[in-house]
Amino acid sequence: MNGATSNSPVIEPNETEHDAESRARSIRVLFSEKRIALRIEELADEIAAAMPKELVVISVLKGGFIFTADLIRALHRANFEPEIDFLKLSSYGAGTESTGDMNILFDLSANVADREVLIVDDILDTGRTISLARQLLVDRAAASVKTCCLLDKAERRLVDIQADFIGFPCPNEFVVGYGLDYAHRYRELPFIGVLSET
Ligand code: 5GP
Ligand code: MG
Repeated sequence: MNGATSNSPVIEPNETEHDAESRARSIRVLFSEKRIALRIEELADEIAAAMPKELVVISVLKGGFIFTADLIRALHRANFEPEIDFLKLSSYGAGTESTGDMNILFDLSANVADREVLIVDDILDTGRTISLARQLLVDRAAASVKTCCLLDKAERRLVDIQADFIGFPCPNEFVVGYGLDYAHRYRELPFIGVLSET
């Protein structure tokens, strides 16, 4: 699925290749904007009942940034005062399969020693990303490490790990939107869906 294939759509006048591709592709909604928003309020209450107010929220880039932004504001409504930090680990490249390679691409700025930490990511798939992130924080002497993923593709797991807080179980399909990309696109969609050719 890229613009260089022989079945690329015809590019109309005043249209970029990108526009033509978007027009030719539709997205089937799996989790609507409203459903995500309602679930995040519940998740914040679950987290508030289980963790201290001064927690450090660690957002896993890039995919986790939109979910984190909404979750921390829901935590604020639950009277929490989280500190926010970011971590980027190597993830999928331009395709849809995991390479198994994991490196720190962008490190935390916070000192997490003796802090209660919540790792926030978009989706738990093979489990490699969350397990590496978790291990990193344990190695840096965090007082406790919990994990929160909006989506859980349980069938795909290769590493034995569960998240402490899960938004929704996710079918075994490649999803986009709400922070999740396909080849660097679709992160801005307010809902989560599956790409389908029209
Ligand atoms: P894991 O390390 O658990 O295999 O993969 C986690 C990361 O892979 C996620 O944070 C996400 O960035 C990416 N990923 C896994 N499944 C999907 C998917 O269905 N769609 C998108 N866009 N990214 C995914
Ligand atoms: Mg990710």
